[in-house]
Amino acid sequence: MDIFKQLPKTNCKDCGSPTCLAFAMAMANGKASLDMCPHATEAAKETLGAATAPPVKTVKVGVGEQEVVLGDETVLFRHDKTFYHPTALAIQISDTLSGAELDAKIAKINELVLERVGQTVAVEFVAITNCSGDAAKFKAAVEAVAAKANFALLLAGNAAALEAAVPAVAAKKPLIHAATAENWEKVVALAKANNCPVVVKGNGLDDTAALVEKVAKEYKEIVIDFGNTAPAKTLGEMVNARRLAIKKKFRPFGYPMIACTLATDPKEEVIEAATYVAKYASIICMKADEKHHLLPLMAWRMNIYTDPQKPMAVEAKVYEIGEVTPDSPVYVCTNFALTYFAVEGEVVGSKIPGYIVAVDTDGASVLTAWAAGKFVAEPINETIKSFGIMDKVNHKSIVIPGYVAIIMGKLTEISGLDVIVGPQEAVGIPAFAKARYPQLLK
Ligand code: SF4
Repeated sequence: MDIFKQLPKTNCKDCGSPTCLAFAMAMANGKASLDMCPHATEAAKETLGAATAPPVKTVKVGVGEQEVVLGDETVLFRHDKTFYHPTALAIQISDTLSGAELDAKIAKINELVLERVGQTVAVEFVAITNCSGDAAKFKAAVEAVAAKANFALLLAGNAAALEAAVPAVAAKKPLIHAATAENWEKVVALAKANNCPVVVKGNGLDDTAALVEKVAKEYKEIVIDFGNTAPAKTLGEMVNARRLAIKKKFRPFGYPMIACTLATDPKEEVIEAATYVAKYASIICMKADEKHHLLPLMAWRMNIYTDPQKPMAVEAKVYEIGEVTPDSPVYVCTNFALTYFAVEGEVVGSKIPGYIVAVDTDGASVLTAWAAGKFVAEPINETIKSFGIMDKVNHKSIVIPGYVAIIMGKLTEISGLDVIVGPQEAVGIPAFAKARYPQLLK
């Protein structure tokens, strides 16, 4: 009611809620923020702004297409609502590399863009580290990277190195790493003067909270680093910090967090990083730069940050895989992205071009959609008819997933087609297709 009293009470619905009271309830539950009401008065913003701000502040790094949004998280577990801003990956480059080595490394990092289930995934940062200890060398490396890298910048060095490099690339709004107990006044002043976010690096929970409180009085564009000394300790600190931020609204931990991996073997490093993706890093600074190491990490990140209330779906339509002909088989599956892309990959692997009919199941997988009545005989029959797929082929057969063999009889009856029960798992498609359609093998 205290929030409601501050709202305009016109029930105009511009915020997406049916009434101001409903909006106040949503705000009280952390599901809405005052900036969603375009009619809120300045007085209301002042009174309610801090109290209803997201428990983890939004911090933006980079500009234009390279901008990365960190934080703005409202829940501890993604099934409570969703996580909003996926953990950004920062790949390290040392300023000790020669000019040619640096160019090769930047080119390699720029290539870290991958496709998964129809979506483009990539790293978000290049992290230039002042391993040389030389401020001039660091500045030169930062300028070289800024000129060629396709991603946002993270600059890691001591105060002197940062003072040399930050002004040269301030227009790109890099993330500055790090303000520590020893240098924070200098580094925070540098960040403030150049309008760049800054990492505040402490040593464990209590020390970091005290340092963040001091810095936040001066500047609030903060990312927290607990000063990693061991993966388990870092994980524990990030879990406790997120709990305190969400459950207790403890402001010193109400900022995005960064974790730097310690493992040196790339496979172990990816496992360490996967832990931080799950709980609760907003950025991970790491060394691995091979696609085959990063793809599983990116797939894991995608799964954690997918909205659990919105299944990943592909468009419900007929897909032509390879150089199809009127003889090509017709596979039927759901429009759940993981199902569709698994089937697509195996049809390609079978070397027998085919049609895939993706039935609209609201993104549900085969058995879930079957249980919900969305992947049963009637909707499949209607989909096949509405897409006109049988007009494109010279046969009358369709292949359904083995998991829904039970619908074969009914589907045969109402469609008049020859319904073939295919393998249960997509991985069985190549062997199935080769046995069934050997004459179509390309
Ligand atoms: Fe009320 Fe503001 Fe929502 Fe309009 S936009 S219904 S005034 S809370």
